[in-house]
Amino acid sequence: SQRSDDPAVQTSSNSQQRSSSTHSSVKKKGVKDFELGKTLGEGSYSTVVAARDRTTGREYAIKILDKKHIIKEKKVKYVNIEKNTLNKMNHPGIVRLYFTFQDHNSLCILLYHAKNGELLTFIKKLGSFDLNCTRYYTSQILAAIEYMHDQGVIHRDLKPENILLDEKMHIKVTDFGTAKILGKNVAGETDDRANSFVGTAEYVSPELLKEKAACKSSDFWALGCILYQLIAGRPPFKGGNEYMTFQKIVHLDYTFPEGFPPVAKDLVKKLLVLNPAERLGAGGKEGVKQLKSHPFFDGVRWDTLWQQPAPRLL
Ligand code: ATP
Repeated sequence: SQRSDDPAVQTSSNSQQRSSSTHSSVKKKGVKDFELGKTLGEGSYSTVVAARDRTTGREYAIKILDKKHIIKEKKVKYVNIEKNTLNKMNHPGIVRLYFTFQDHNSLCILLYHAKNGELLTFIKKLGSFDLNCTRYYTSQILAAIEYMHDQGVIHRDLKPENILLDEKMHIKVTDFGTAKILGKNVAGETDDRANSFVGTAEYVSPELLKEKAACKSSDFWALGCILYQLIAGRPPFKGGNEYMTFQKIVHLDYTFPEGFPPVAKDLVKKLLVLNPAERLGAGGKEGVKQLKSHPFFDGVRWDTLWQQPAPRLL
């Protein structure tokens, strides 16, 4: 028998919804309809593999989750959050969910395959990005945040590992497992995660550490951390352990390396502000407008951001 929190419960309606809206296939697809390729990565509860639709030849990434393991570890809710938030998203800067299906043992999420992998890999490889590349990637991340916030979704775990790159080297934000839908969570229940730590130590906002509450502005804190990291090559707050990292965050204990471009420094300082209400970008549409008008973004063509070729990474 099926538990009410079994991922199975929400799967079929989702897949039907997606397949009718995006793919004209009448028959519901299963894992057998795909030729599986190489493993793209492993998560704590999932394996992501490259896949090709045997009929259309289209390429995807399939995230395969072991149902028993998810239920045992009480992660059903998070899987549903990821599935339901991603299912709402339709934006060039966010990984697309096409549909979900399952068999007896696993739940499969068919995703856009971001062929160039994680932004983190490129930061590590290059050490850091120049100002022009940093501006380009920061703009794309900001545009994706603006979109998800407009949809009422806070990501809460933005970091270079969760920012994937497609073959054009444009970003695709992923990992919505810790996202939050404003007002209520996607299952329509009161969110009970406010008291538990979500996110990654280095990018977590001070309000989450102190108030145990994240807001839209928390994603702008993470944006400030990522912008800093693209230029400095390392995140602004990093202690010897999680506790020490948290101490640095709540005391705003960070410094800029020499040669950090002043215009980027000014933006980082306005994003890494302890009070979320005073952070640049806070305050709804007007706040985002102000953030996008910061001199760091001078020259950015927001209207054609996704048509422009990515700058060569330097
Ligand atoms: P955890 O669940 O432990 O937080 P995770 O979120 O990284 O880890 P997955 O979502 O299963 O776990 O992803 C595993 C890896 O697969 C990722 O690190 C990423 O590099 C790769 N990956 C995930 N989705 C895609 C995708 N759509 N395209 C290309 N690579 C992907």
